Amino acid sequence: MSQQQDNLKTHHEVLKLMGSRFEITAISEKEALAVQAVKAGIDEIRRIEKLISSWDPASQTSEVNRQAGIKPVAVDQELFDLINRAKKISTLTDGAFDISYASMDKIWKFDGSMKTLPDPDLVKNSVARIDFKNIMLDPEKGTVFLKEKGMKIGFGAIGKGYAANKAKSIMLSLGIQNGLVNAGGDLIAWGKKADGSDWQIGIANPKDKEGIFSWLTINEMAVVTSGDYERFVMFDGKRYAHIIDPRTGYPVSETKSVTIICPDAELADALATSVFVLGEKQGLNLINQLKGIECLIVNKDDEIKTSDNLDLNYYRKK
Ligand code: AMP
Ligand code: MG
Repeated sequence: MSQQQDNLKTHHEVLKLMGSRFEITAISEKEALAVQAVKAGIDEIRRIEKLISSWDPASQTSEVNRQAGIKPVAVDQELFDLINRAKKISTLTDGAFDISYASMDKIWKFDGSMKTLPDPDLVKNSVARIDFKNIMLDPEKGTVFLKEKGMKIGFGAIGKGYAANKAKSIMLSLGIQNGLVNAGGDLIAWGKKADGSDWQIGIANPKDKEGIFSWLTINEMAVVTSGDYERFVMFDGKRYAHIIDPRTGYPVSETKSVTIICPDAELADALATSVFVLGEKQGLNLINQLKGIECLIVNKDDEIKTSDNLDLNYYRKK
């Protein structure tokens, strides 16, 4: 779909990538360039998916998982660096964020195939496999080694943000000064809209759906939300959602959603998941210590809590 506003043209495509709905927008005076840039962004996301997907047996990530406890695997510098950054987030969050959470994949399934709660002993055994300190990186050899048998890594909490960053970079390098990549609700925007106004992101207030609505005006920003409750299972009336506390092996259910706002989509993605695990108090405490990163939490009582410097706009519906 293309449309013209003043002399700027917007090209926009919606498609399924990485198992989610992606929306890619490029704005340029040259329509052909906008079309080419969106295509380049899509190709880039497909390339990244091939590298990091843990369910594609042909990916390097799957090979690392197959060789857990057996031997180190040589990987592309790109994957090596992504794992290295993920480990830094683990250190920063005291292990709340941990890509080796994925050993729990065999226990918690959110595709409808789980019929009962898992055996607590099974949970205990699997949670023992989670430890980012056992993801061994050798920078000289360019290898990754998961030290324990049964360990597994997965990029569900950081991959979409990474892909959004990379799609933006490639579009920018082609000369797209204004654009937006929305990776299943995790988005990054740069420049302005075709009509010259800033990008705006609306945030519904769950407690007051009819009354107050808030929004953020952003440019050069990523806005990423975790825990939207799209993926969960129910047992005995209790909801078990897809973010796992690496300390217990059980899904976290204290918070409804966490939105992180910062210039980098990968960091926003990782921190949204982290704050979800850490919970309201510890999570806000962490974000308030990080410069240029803001946070909005919907807690279990449907109250909105924000970090100290979040610049939200409010609008009261009549
Ligand atoms: P997000 O929507 O970015 O919060 O990512 C949630 C996804 O991250 C889940 O579906 C899992 O694939 C993965 N995940 C779950 N728990 C964790 C955790 N504690 N650390 C890192 N990744 C996780
Ligand atoms: Mg995330």
